[in-house]
Amino acid sequence: MEPVLIMPPTQIEILATPVHRVTMDQTVQIVIRFMLEPRLHQIVTTNPEFVMTAQKDAEFRHILRAADLCIPDGVGLLYASRWLGAPLPERVPGSELVYRLAETAAAQGWRLFLLGAAPGVAQAAADIFQKMFPDLVIAGTYAGSPAVEENDAIVERINSSQANILFVAYGAPKQDKWIARNREKLTAVRVAIGIGGSLDFVTGKAVRAPKWARNLGLEWLHRLYLEPWRWRRMLALPQFAINVFLSKKI
Ligand code: UDP
Repeated sequence: MEPVLIMPPTQIEILATPVHRVTMDQTVQIVIRFMLEPRLHQIVTTNPEFVMTAQKDAEFRHILRAADLCIPDGVGLLYASRWLGAPLPERVPGSELVYRLAETAAAQGWRLFLLGAAPGVAQAAADIFQKMFPDLVIAGTYAGSPAVEENDAIVERINSSQANILFVAYGAPKQDKWIARNREKLTAVRVAIGIGGSLDFVTGKAVRAPKWARNLGLEWLHRLYLEPWRWRRMLALPQFAINVFLSKKI
């Protein structure tokens, strides 16, 4: 049985970065509550790379601290939480949450907008979601870019679509900064979430690790194998481990 949902959910701090103690099912329940409140709620899919970026990037750090919900995406956060003596219940991967939210949007009649990814990917993902959940209303899709010059035209496009739930796929931290700087301008959006490469997974443009590897907490290794150019970014993982190890007050 799922524990009773506490609002706001409790959180822990890992290297001064908040992470909420939520399961996948609770996350969906929280989004349903957020949708009832007429303001934009920002959700971030925190992983060890986010935490390390936040150490150097004050704007991103502030966004993570101000977000309405910080879900634990990334097995490293679970290990860290155990080491710090405040275990998180489970991993809530953004790439799985997008399906749950598309399904819930269909059931609740929310209007979903998919922003970002390479040209054509958002529309292809929308077609897949639409097939999976026939009642889903896609308010719009658009690749665009997080560049400042495009900002206002994209906001206008989303506002005129009357979307009330928004997925932004510009990769972190750009997507989260994009949402934060537009949170007052997006008139109808009640929930906005940065989803990284999730639409690439939905469309099969990128492939997730096999289930056994995910269960062993090795999704990051699979990603490094398929996209070796990520190695520099992924140095954040051992740095994260060392910093968390040293941060424990004994
Ligand atoms: N992306 C984009 N515009 C940009 C940068 C990235 O549309 O200026 C998209 C890219 O196509 C991909 C997504 O952002 O679909 C996430 O990229 P990445 O895999 O690097 O993000 P992560 O999942 O690691 O956060």
